[in-house]
Amino acid sequence: DATVYYERDADRHALDDETVAVLGYGSQGHAHAQNLAESGVDVVVGLRADSSSWTAAEEDGLRVATPDEAAAQASVVSVLLPDTVQPAVYEEAIEPTLEPGDTLQFAHGFNVHYNQIQPPEGVDVTMIAPKSPGHLVRRNYENGQGTPGLLAIYQDATGEAREQALAYADALGCTRAGVVETTFREETETDLFGEQAVLCGGVTELVKAGFETLVDAGYAPEMAYFECLNELKLIVDLLYEGGHMEMWNSVSDTAEYGGLTRGESVVDREGMDEILQNVQNGEFAREWISENQANRPAYTQYRRAEETHEIERVGAELRTLFAWDEDAEGER
Ligand code: NDP
Ligand code: MG
Ligand code: MG
Repeated sequence: DATVYYERDADRHALDDETVAVLGYGSQGHAHAQNLAESGVDVVVGLRADSSSWTAAEEDGLRVATPDEAAAQASVVSVLLPDTVQPAVYEEAIEPTLEPGDTLQFAHGFNVHYNQIQPPEGVDVTMIAPKSPGHLVRRNYENGQGTPGLLAIYQDATGEAREQALAYADALGCTRAGVVETTFREETETDLFGEQAVLCGGVTELVKAGFETLVDAGYAPEMAYFECLNELKLIVDLLYEGGHMEMWNSVSDTAEYGGLTRGESVVDREGMDEILQNVQNGEFAREWISENQANRPAYTQYRRAEETHEIERVGAELRTLFAWDEDAEGER
């Protein structure tokens, strides 16, 4: 099983003499910059001169500079830009400033694993990837709690890469919850597979297929929406809280028997294997990189189709009817 690190395994002082440049102030960037700074780490945020986040970062009490200036000041460069823009910014603003002994720090392995960024020898290349959107990384930290995360070492030039990455995870609050050791390859491939086959792609296609099957058979779209989408949250909450048995124990025996005997027939295991192979052999990465180079023609089309699907129209209407439900919960 994987190694898991906690607070007692980390030495915060490993970052005492370092300046960390956090490039980007989006979902992850704002959380890393603020958590690290409040943990006593010297942080400079790197943003484009015309970035709308520049003032926000300054108002949060942080030093801000352009990406090349921030990288030049720093011994640790935390690359928290959208994955698709990282290679260009790396070439322009980061690579020219790298010195032996510096650290390149990532929150996802895509660019390094698929060779879109090829770090020079002599620098440490590490990953601390919180398993959560940035606003939760920030909120958990403020509440004195932690966010689970992943740690990976791609290149350990100094012999101190792991110690420093653990200090980074600690300052971010991740060691409060647990930091699982992995590799850039494993993180990248499981992340892409998960979001394609199960989480983002799998779930939305399952919901749409169920919705369409009911609507095409003449049932009311509102009924189909409730049954195939709205109730999904209840099921996922049960799975999240107590695993499969908690969910099966909470639904009716009829639902349990029907689900256990029928569920498997809607899952295409060969399709899943193919998704995984395309991730492993780099085919998906190549496709997505050239899609971006061509200004995202397919992406734009798929997005349009999704926006105009009937489930979106029905859902938007129905959700206004139970907005009170969300207020009652306080937050989402
Ligand atoms: P965001 O899209 O939220 O970050 C956008 C930030 O990058 C903004 O501050 C934006 O500033 C800046 N930016 C965009 N383009 C450029 C550019 N060309 N030059 C300089 N700055 C630019 O990214 P995320 O936080 O979602 O992702 C960052 C990394 O974290 C990725 O590697 C991602 O895979 C990883 N990750 C993300 C998670 C998430 O939940 N979001 C979870 C775990 C990992 P501007 O105002 O200039 O546009
Ligand atoms: Mg992902
Ligand atoms: Mg039911």
